Amino acid sequence: MTQADIQTIRLTNGKTANVHTQLFINNEFVPGHGPLIETINPANEEVICKVHSADENDVNLAVESAYNCYYNTWRKVAPAERGRLLNKLADLMERDKDEIAILDAVDNGKSFVIARDVDVTESIGCYRYFAGWADKIHGKTIDTTFDKMCYTRHESLGVVGAVVPWNYPTMMAGWKFAPALATGNCIVLKSSEVTPLATLKFGELVKEAGFPAGVVNIITGYGHTTGNYLSAHPKISKMAFTGSTVTGRKIMESSAGSNLKKLQLELGGKSAQIVLADADLASSAYWACGGIFNNHGQSCNAGSRIFVHESVHDKFVELFIEETKKLKLGDPFDDETFQGPQINKSQFDKILNYIEIGKKEGAKVAYGGKRWGNKGYFIEPTVLINCTNDMRVMREEIFGPVVAIGTFKTIDEAIDLANDSDYGLAGGVYTQNLDDAIKVTNEVRAGTMWVNCYDVFDQSTPFGGYKQSGFGKELGKYALHEYTQVKVVKIQLQSKI
Ligand code: NAD
Repeated sequence: MTQADIQTIRLTNGKTANVHTQLFINNEFVPGHGPLIETINPANEEVICKVHSADENDVNLAVESAYNCYYNTWRKVAPAERGRLLNKLADLMERDKDEIAILDAVDNGKSFVIARDVDVTESIGCYRYFAGWADKIHGKTIDTTFDKMCYTRHESLGVVGAVVPWNYPTMMAGWKFAPALATGNCIVLKSSEVTPLATLKFGELVKEAGFPAGVVNIITGYGHTTGNYLSAHPKISKMAFTGSTVTGRKIMESSAGSNLKKLQLELGGKSAQIVLADADLASSAYWACGGIFNNHGQSCNAGSRIFVHESVHDKFVELFIEETKKLKLGDPFDDETFQGPQINKSQFDKILNYIEIGKKEGAKVAYGGKRWGNKGYFIEPTVLINCTNDMRVMREEIFGPVVAIGTFKTIDEAIDLANDSDYGLAGGVYTQNLDDAIKVTNEVRAGTMWVNCYDVFDQSTPFGGYKQSGFGKELGKYALHEYTQVKVVKIQLQSKI
């Protein structure tokens, strides 16, 4: 840690915080040799600080450090010790919860209270969950013939490369670090160039927890340079990626063009929430509202299309708007704030443009539709009605606080509408009829389906997409398979029984 690394930044509540600005390689903060990147506070559009980025040599250094550590040290560490270290890391995160949440809030614009009580708290749960798995990853013995012994080993992959987006900086990093380390891999993670601060703080905790140097390496930089060097690196055994579908394709190409790495892609979505005629409308409106507006609409699983049975459409929209009116916009450091600014200027412009596109296509703005305030990238939660599935606002991922609402006549039609999408990340159905709930959840082609709720996560349940929302599962026991490979050993017994 050097003076050049640590900088003091100013928060919108007048307080200050210290941040790391260099790369974390081999348990040290070291300068990067790519361009310095300005990270912007989206609540006031001011530069927070400049952060180092990794050029190709820095990426090589990080990968070599992980590779050497894997072969010389980490793969020989007992699984129970890996679990102990992960639990220690979770304890340190617990201790520094406020500090981590402050960095997510200033860098991303999300509410400090939500960052602390949801993002950081759930990430700590994720580390503890996978810490518990570390010494419970077992192969099988398999009977073949009487004179042979056969067993499988679930072995680590080596060095995992991870690339994460800006919408949940701490949580997305946790979803990669925790299973990768529990299963015995080393990791090089590239944070989003837009939100590097909380992830760099994590490096400090990794060192304090006592992880051997090289197990965890954290770099930042632009995707087309740093991210691409990482995903094309021949000593990376697997890329774990969360981000847009466009970038997911590029990572697949880099992998195919280098060493055919194992891949796990968590990509975009345009998830449908279906409100059946018999639904409890007040409860549906409450959940559906959070389903789109949580995290300012910047969630891959956002329920951004809502299909309502025509007989209850008007009442549902009225209740939905009542719920939307309760969402308080404001400074991320105000305890009452639910919705902060969008992440940056380009997302802000893109979202406002989508609202205009929706209007031109025939959608009616039933609520919101404009910028909020005159400083920061705030956009009013926006409700578009009269939407049909051919409109761009129904087909393309807006990644902002904009919901498109349409109607249907029959359950089969609602299922067809939900499935009429390139994406298949998640979906929801609101009904009091169990048969209908099961029919819809079985027939919608998506990796997660919620019934009478939405956006409910738990570290023990898997998450991942169908179709162009990607493949592979994060969280839960399923994630262990993503970070291990199976070896079979067959032994010819010499003894005569
Ligand atoms: P993005 O794809 O632009 O960037 C994601 C990350 O990829 C960043 O770190 C970026 O630097 C990096 N990157 C960009 N180009 C790259 C390249 N050529 N090679 C390697 N890395 C590259 O996405 P974003 O704008 O940061 O995030 C929003 C997107 O992420 C949305 O589409 C959203 O749906 C998706 N997302 C998906 C999930 C999920 O679990 N399915 C979760 C969160 C976000």
